[in-house]
Amino acid sequence: ELLLEVRGLSAVISESKKEVLRSVDLTVHQGEIHAIMGRNGSGKSTFSKVLAGHPQYEVTGGVVTFKGQNLLDMDPEERSHAGLFTSFQDPVEIPGISNYDFLLMAYNARQKKLNRPEIGPIEFFSVVDPKLAMLKMEKGFLDGHVNGASGGQKKRSEILQLAVLGADLCILDEIDSGLDVDALQDVAKAINGLLTPDNSILMITHYRRLLDYIKPAYVHIMEDGRIIKTGDASLAKQLEEGGFKAVSAT
Ligand code: ADP
Ligand code: MG
Ligand code: MG
Repeated sequence: ELLLEVRGLSAVISESKKEVLRSVDLTVHQGEIHAIMGRNGSGKSTFSKVLAGHPQYEVTGGVVTFKGQNLLDMDPEERSHAGLFTSFQDPVEIPGISNYDFLLMAYNARQKKLNRPEIGPIEFFSVVDPKLAMLKMEKGFLDGHVNGASGGQKKRSEILQLAVLGADLCILDEIDSGLDVDALQDVAKAINGLLTPDNSILMITHYRRLLDYIKPAYVHIMEDGRIIKTGDASLAKQLEEGGFKAVSAT
C-alpha cells in the first residue's frame, strides 16, 4: 500500500528565498526501508524538515500525499499525529523538562488525538519500561533532561520516543552520527525491532556503515536539492567504493 508520495517538491529558505529543494520525487510503500545518501549540504536534512513542516522553509511547488492525505496542508503537529515521525539531525532542545515528562506529554497528546484515554504518570511506566529494556537504556535516563543529553543519548532518546509513540513513516536523519559501533548496533537493533509489515523507514545518512545494520531496499542519492539516482542496496556499495563521484549526475 502506498504510504508517501512526493512529486516535484520544491522549496526555498523562507528568509532568503534561496532554493534548497528542486523538484524532488519519492515514493514509499508500507513496509519498505529507504535510504537517502548524499554529500554534506546536498539537501537531505532540508528534505526531512520540509516533510515535517518546518517553518524555516517555504514550499514553492509539488505535491506530497501521506496516507492519502495532502501532507502540505497539515501543520507540523497534525503531520506527527497522522503517523509521520521525523528525527532531526540537531534535535530541538526543550528546556527544563525531563525525558519522562516529555514522553508522557507526547504520548497523551497522541492518545487525545486518537480519542483514547490519557494515561497517568505511574501507569505510563509500564509503557516505557519494555522500550527502555529493548534499547538497553538505564531507567535513570528518564529523569534526565531533554536538553542535557550527549549526542549519543539524544539519538537514543529519539528512538525511545519513536518506540513509545509508534509511527507509520519514520524519517531518521543521521541517526548514526556520534555513535560508537556498540551504540550503533543497539540503536539499529531497536529500529529493526520496531519494523512491522505496515510501517516504513526513510534513513538519511552520510555513511554506509548504518546500512550494514538496517538494510534498505531502495537507496536514493541526493545532490544539489534533487534526487539524482535511485537504486537498490548496491548503489550504496558503489558509493562506498567510488565515492559520490561514482554515482553523481555530472
Ligand atoms: P545535508 O543534510 O545534505 O547536509 P542540508 O539540507 O542541511 O544538507 O543543507 C542543504 C543546503 O541548504 C546547504 O547549502 C545549507 O547550507 C542550505 N540550508 C538549508 N537550510 C538552511 C537554512 N535554514 N539557512 C541557511 N541555509 C540553509
Ligand atoms: Mg549536513
Ligand atoms: Mg543533514
